[in-house]
Amino acid sequence: MAVATVRRRLRCNRVGGARRHRFGTGAGQFGVPAVSVVPGHRPRAARVARRDHQPRSAHCRSPRGRFPSDGARRCRRCACRRRADIRCSVDVRPSDEFARRAVQRRRYPGTCRSDPGELCRVAPASCCRGAGHRRVAQRDLDSGGHRLVRQRRTPGVHRIHRIRRRTVVSGRSGRDPECLRGRRGRDHLPGAEDRRSGQHDDRGAHLGSTVTESDVVSFCRICNAMCGIVATVDDGRVIRIRGDESHALSRGYTCPKGRALGVMHHHPLRLDHPQAASPADPETGLRSLLATSWDESLDDIAEIVRSVIGESGPDGIGMYLASGSAFDTNGRRAAERFLSKTGSLQKYTATTIDTPCKPLVAELVGGWSGLTPVWDHEHSKLLILFGSNPVVSHGHSNAIPDPVRRLRDFQDAGGRIVVVDPRRTETAALADVHLDVRPGSDAMVLGFLVRALLDEARIDKARIDEVRDRAVGVDELVAAVAPFTLAFAVEHTGLSETQLRELLDDVRSAGRISALSGTGSSMNATANVAEWLLWALHIVTDSYDKPGGMWFNPGYLMQLDSRDWQPSDGRAEPGPASRPELPRRFGEYPCSGLVSEIESGNIRVLFVVGGNPVTALPDRKRTEAALASLDALIVLDVVETETTRFATHVIPVAGQLERGDLTWLLDSYQLSVAAQYTPAVVAPGADRRPVWKVFAELGERLDLDVLPRGFTSDNATDESLFGPILARSRTDVDTVLSSPHGVVESGAVFGWVTERVLPDGKWRIAPFELIAQCDELTGGGPYSPAPESSAEFVFDRLLLLPQRRMRTMNSQLRDVAAPGGRTEMPTIVMSPADAHARGIADGDQAKVESDFGITFGEVAVDEKMQSGSIGMPHGWSAPDVGRLTSADTGIDPLTGMVLQSGLRVSVEKLPN
Ligand code: SF4
Repeated sequence: MAVATVRRRLRCNRVGGARRHRFGTGAGQFGVPAVSVVPGHRPRAARVARRDHQPRSAHCRSPRGRFPSDGARRCRRCACRRRADIRCSVDVRPSDEFARRAVQRRRYPGTCRSDPGELCRVAPASCCRGAGHRRVAQRDLDSGGHRLVRQRRTPGVHRIHRIRRRTVVSGRSGRDPECLRGRRGRDHLPGAEDRRSGQHDDRGAHLGSTVTESDVVSFCRICNAMCGIVATVDDGRVIRIRGDESHALSRGYTCPKGRALGVMHHHPLRLDHPQAASPADPETGLRSLLATSWDESLDDIAEIVRSVIGESGPDGIGMYLASGSAFDTNGRRAAERFLSKTGSLQKYTATTIDTPCKPLVAELVGGWSGLTPVWDHEHSKLLILFGSNPVVSHGHSNAIPDPVRRLRDFQDAGGRIVVVDPRRTETAALADVHLDVRPGSDAMVLGFLVRALLDEARIDKARIDEVRDRAVGVDELVAAVAPFTLAFAVEHTGLSETQLRELLDDVRSAGRISALSGTGSSMNATANVAEWLLWALHIVTDSYDKPGGMWFNPGYLMQLDSRDWQPSDGRAEPGPASRPELPRRFGEYPCSGLVSEIESGNIRVLFVVGGNPVTALPDRKRTEAALASLDALIVLDVVETETTRFATHVIPVAGQLERGDLTWLLDSYQLSVAAQYTPAVVAPGADRRPVWKVFAELGERLDLDVLPRGFTSDNATDESLFGPILARSRTDVDTVLSSPHGVVESGAVFGWVTERVLPDGKWRIAPFELIAQCDELTGGGPYSPAPESSAEFVFDRLLLLPQRRMRTMNSQLRDVAAPGGRTEMPTIVMSPADAHARGIADGDQAKVESDFGITFGEVAVDEKMQSGSIGMPHGWSAPDVGRLTSADTGIDPLTGMVLQSGLRVSVEKLPN
């Protein structure tokens, strides 16, 4: 019998039929190394015994309690340790497993099912787990604390040059990639005139030239998911962005935003040269921007900073850092270092706009604000999403690239998804259960679950003692959640008794759970209590830091699990001088205090890095007036925004395709311990410079050490500045720099937070600050959403809810036409019942009014919207959520967050 045939039979796992040798069909092909005996194979006679095995993962077929016959310490399929003391938690019987994989094969024919240690047999060059991946590294569970595991690394090159002998003969011939973004986008691009005149082709190449194209492997830096991308560059122009099929995590996925990066790079409003403002118009406060040189601009800024620090002290300098800077590793570090070197405390970030409840609860309960629970998607059985729509957002504080496939894979492996959301979102449409709660009542659902589980645990002393073993303050928690009875939850959430009981049954039967919250929950008035009860639910069910629940990603680059931790006591410092009642937490002041600091003259110079405070901050009129009154407003950005109109200095910085980067700041948001480096896809165009260089040069003018020791603005490069970060990472510098598709150290790891971060190894499950807010919630205080009938909701005022869009990130990419020429404009989303009650039809213009202001916009009638609420995306000019909010009223006392969700508003049709 031929060797290959023997091997195929040895690998067979299937029950019966001609297809039973399917798994072995790749052996000996595609350069797959010969494996003489493959553990996992069981001859037909052994199959009955194998059914008793409860594998740790869906792939494992090894008998429990035994090592494989070749003496390896782990199962060769899933790396589970078949020892009696480590029992598998996943109960997948062979027949179920075959059915699941059959479905998966039909749905995703390219999905890799190769064994660890082997090259992928399905698609060696573009495998879903990374090209040519191998499982090569294993750490011992007992000594290293790491369960698995495998290191996927694809040595290779970031840039592949292809000289295409495409002789350019016509200005209109061939494929036109910019056309993908629509006629408008193409005609606005630089060079459009030349193309129309026939001197260049549609990609901007000179007629008669030979085209050199190159594909550059990179990753998208618009949102947390950080999907792998491949950018095709043609004569310095980015002509196409596609998903990187060899990327270890995103597996070829990109959303429309990522694919629009090339168009964004060539955006007609890109900032190309430094500009300085003429004196402000006394009536409008607006200034004209005039081109200037880098030296003039930086000299001028340095002089202003020096004189303001001399006159008002370091707190005269402020800085607002937003999502445009969150993915710029060197830029963010240099900006923060510049501010701290001046001695100023006036740091403001977008964290306090939409999600301060998360670091707050992490700090109060876990002792460190940076603790971010991550979904254990490989082992958990139940995923509950509160106000989160990852199909569109790709995760709020979790990075979920390729969300639809990932959620379906989870369901195919036996997982159950419950979405708790007032709107039938895109994720709710995929879920097993959608609970359309009343807006702002997530805390009520969670309080009911925690109370019910604690009541059951208290009946059995051993069970409540287990909870006490992992948390302090259990009795206080029991008292705090006592009011969340079933009747109370029904009254406030709008859910039925049956729905709530079934949810409780789901939690009970899952044992451990994974639950995530999104902006639907975190921007609400009850955000702190809801987030706290979410943590309490995980702690009561023993789901944190344990397989099958949530884990804490220590980060590939940050290596949080190797640091020494001093748990924080969670106390806040006083706010800025003009608003001392606001809390200073996480090393920054809340954004609600920024405008009053400017108005009171405390901040005289403001740096804005990658943000648009005019549309992001509350009370737009007041914000605009404050910005216009500054001695200097220095905006570092890639395109013109509403804020650049008020700037005294506009600094054109390198966009994400023009700079090298690392997945550093959001290292611990990933679903694996992973990292990636990207070089610049193209060199910075026009007169742009990277953010780090701007602050380094300013620092040199002001005698401040902004860059790490030994670096200057002249000798540093993107890559050289990564050295200090990579030196502290899990591996050597070369491993990260030479892995174009990213490097994955392992899946979920457990135990390090309990051992190293928690005060005394226990969660502080009942912080008094949160109990006080909870008491107000249940006692009808200011945080209490009073029960209202749906009739009152329809005919009186509606609740304003945040909304995510697939083609825009807040207002980023707003005027970039998406593939197909569509540009997604913001709308006021209403239910048909609410629209009908006000005589509003789809596409009508409407006025939205709150207690604080008015905004206008186009209505989109959406039957998925719950009656009694409207949805509006944040960060736009029309409609503008900021015009409906106040920086003084409705401020959360624990975080200083402005209430931008759950506001009562009225909607009225505008005359045609
Ligand atoms: S989900 Fe979209 S925006 Fe986010 S990283 Fe991926 S491609 Fe970029």
